[in-house]
Amino acid sequence: MSKEDYEIVIGLEVHSELSTNTKIFCSCPTDFGGEPNTHCCPICMAMPGTLPVLNEEVVKYAVKAGLATNCEIAIESKNDRKNYFYPDLPKAYQISQYDEPLCKKGYIEIDLGETKKKIGITRIHIEEDAGKLNHDPYGRGSLVDLNRAGVPLIEIVSEPDMRSAEEVDAYLKKLKSILEYIEVSDCKMQEGSLRADVNISIRKKGAKEFGTRTEMKNMNSFRSIVRAIEYEADRQIEIIDNGGKIEQETLRWDDVSGKTFQMRDKENAQDYRYFPDPDLIKFTVSKETQELIKESLPELPESRKKRYTEEYGISERDSNILVSSKYYSDLFEKANKISNNPKAVSNWIITEITRVINEKEIEQSEIPFSAEHLGELVILIDKGTISSSIGKKVLEELFENPRKPEEIIKEKGWIQISDENVIEEIVVSVLDANPQSIADFKAGKDRALGFLVGQAMKQSKGKANPQMLNSRFIELINNKY
Ligand code: ADP
Ligand code: MG
Ligand code: ZN
Repeated sequence: MSKEDYEIVIGLEVHSELSTNTKIFCSCPTDFGGEPNTHCCPICMAMPGTLPVLNEEVVKYAVKAGLATNCEIAIESKNDRKNYFYPDLPKAYQISQYDEPLCKKGYIEIDLGETKKKIGITRIHIEEDAGKLNHDPYGRGSLVDLNRAGVPLIEIVSEPDMRSAEEVDAYLKKLKSILEYIEVSDCKMQEGSLRADVNISIRKKGAKEFGTRTEMKNMNSFRSIVRAIEYEADRQIEIIDNGGKIEQETLRWDDVSGKTFQMRDKENAQDYRYFPDPDLIKFTVSKETQELIKESLPELPESRKKRYTEEYGISERDSNILVSSKYYSDLFEKANKISNNPKAVSNWIITEITRVINEKEIEQSEIPFSAEHLGELVILIDKGTISSSIGKKVLEELFENPRKPEEIIKEKGWIQISDENVIEEIVVSVLDANPQSIADFKAGKDRALGFLVGQAMKQSKGKANPQMLNSRFIELINNKY
């Protein structure tokens, strides 16, 4: 059978670090980095005799995530111990949630080109992160850093509803943008504050039952997730095609070799012996509290998108690009408030700004200028103070040394030339130098006009007002040449 005869089935367990100020069961800071073992206390270092106290903010953040993903929120919920041994987990158990998760039965809608699809959210629960092992590159041992131990996480478990790497990519991007909008996590994948376990199986198209799944742990880049899914699906198809059977196992994706490797097989699957943590009491989130949190939620990407297409007439595609990142969307909103020209602002962000950040290989969040600067740039073009080609130079300058666009153009002498006498002078000199273009234009070749305007722009170093050039060229050719 060929690849096309199989369907890929994928479900994700996504871990996201919450950006509360303090850890989940103690008052240590959650800041990333820092000297090893400086963000910890007896509680998160698991000293005997210490007691955890649940951070109320963590519950609120998780409820926000639940509401933003259409989940039911449990009125009453509890914390359970998940028992296992690893050197980065000093208590030898992780406090998590087992059979009474805080949120369940939600969904996220993803965009797939023309169509939309709902991906079910099975549950969202709260838990603590583990510490970090720093392995000595010369093999002399490993050092434990407990700064991350006790940093709050939510785990978002999806239904096995995804059918391709493309759907997984769309799901993760949507989830990431929702978490960013509601400001519960910074979702920095490179810092590990958003990571995913990818569960994958295959089945013959039309089959009712799911196949046996494998699980790839701790993936933290979109690119490797897509590659890993493609690799793992092919590997499973080949096994089945050759009459083999998929073993349920936990895998590790290796980005360098582009392959998956076994971490544990089913026999070595762990029995976590979950039980309710006797040090923590059940906690409640009343209906009233839920309502208050719901009211505090900001506008989500879906609703922003609707506004962009319906109110501003921005295309579906462009709106998607804008809202897929909170950074872009906020930049758009603020710059538009200043300039009142949504289409122009959207174009600047999607074409020019995106081009420059790709060239410079920087993140959107590293854009050095403000939304005010972008808004003012758009106004200067709308007023005709500068042409849009000068606008591009102003933008480059904003990336280099951000300051008011007005100052930049004054300093650089880039103000558009709209003085009739100067325009006249340029037009006449270009016409005198290009008799052939005049003849072409008279013979009906409209492109000749474009050439002439281009020459005049060149002569004025991009500063001449193009509309004025255009009409003056036509007038002069028709009347004087
Ligand atoms: P565990 O904690 O043992 O990993 P769950 O049963 O909660 O397990 O499932 C974890 C994830 O695996 C979920 O996201 C779910 O959608 C996904 N999943 C379950 N069965 C399959 C399957 N046959 N193929 C692909 N994904 C699956
Ligand atoms: Mg799992
Ligand atoms: Zn602590």
